[in-house]
Amino acid sequence: MNKVQLPPYDDSIAFENLSKNERLGSYPHLKDSVCPVQTSYAQYTIVKGTPTLVKGQAISDAVADFMKGHYASPPAELFYITEMRDSTEHLSCPMCGSMHSGTLDHYLPQNKFPIFAVFSKNLVPACKCNSKRKETLLGLAPGERVLHPYFDECLGERLVRAHFEDFGEVPKVSLALMVSNTHPHYSAISFHVRSIVQRSAIVKYLADRWSSLFRKPSRVVRAFAANIATQADVQALLEAERDALDDLHKGKNNWNSIFVSGLLDPPVLAWLAGRLSLPGRAPDDPLG
Ligand SMILES: [Zn+2]
Repeated sequence: MNKVQLPPYDDSIAFENLSKNERLGSYPHLKDSVCPVQTSYAQYTIVKGTPTLVKGQAISDAVADFMKGHYASPPAELFYITEMRDSTEHLSCPMCGSMHSGTLDHYLPQNKFPIFAVFSKNLVPACKCNSKRKETLLGLAPGERVLHPYFDECLGERLVRAHFEDFGEVPKVSLALMVSNTHPHYSAISFHVRSIVQRSAIVKYLADRWSSLFRKPSRVVRAFAANIATQADVQALLEAERDALDDLHKGKNNWNSIFVSGLLDPPVLAWLAGRLSLPGRAPDDPLG
């Protein structure tokens, strides 16, 4: 999960140009939809994509099908769809925080909101978590919704960390929220973590990272190649590692930062410091 910059494209102009392209099968069916589409795009932006506030105007089933077809196979007027797919592949997934994206996801699902099928601000980079999410959008309790990577500023805060128990080679791993229930977007954050992040491969990834750290600490935290004398030193090294990962992945909720944040949990930190300062331990030996 990550906050990303709004796409810079002019969707209203792009749609108008699309509607005028006589070579497309959708011509002239999109012409009467230009006004409702442009009005809906503007209203979506004003309410920042909030699902309960967006008022997408009605379009015919035929126009909806043309829009979905154009998303799947974008004509030149919708060049930005291909550009967004290609330019975000190497980035941490804004939806779940995994280490790459690779595809686009409709924030408001295109089956329920076909009018936003080709709207760049509704297209968010995502990884395979996209197929697990399907059409998940709202929870049952008030405020429960999937976070929007372009509009939810809270995605820039540190929201989640790994929670480790049983400090053996194979730990027990879960996710812990780093915001209290007094946070103004607590319900949305909690719902997003439960329904998007938790259902990704993150727990397996965190367990694998832990096992690597356990077997050869420097493989995961380079500074752990040497023994470290005090818990304060271990903490400082981990904080520097976490900050460097935030920087590298352009956000605080990528899986690697989530992992290191879990190592800074006081019980884990105390255990790690005890292991890394054990008298007679050879540098970079397993932690067991
Ligand atoms: Zn993802």
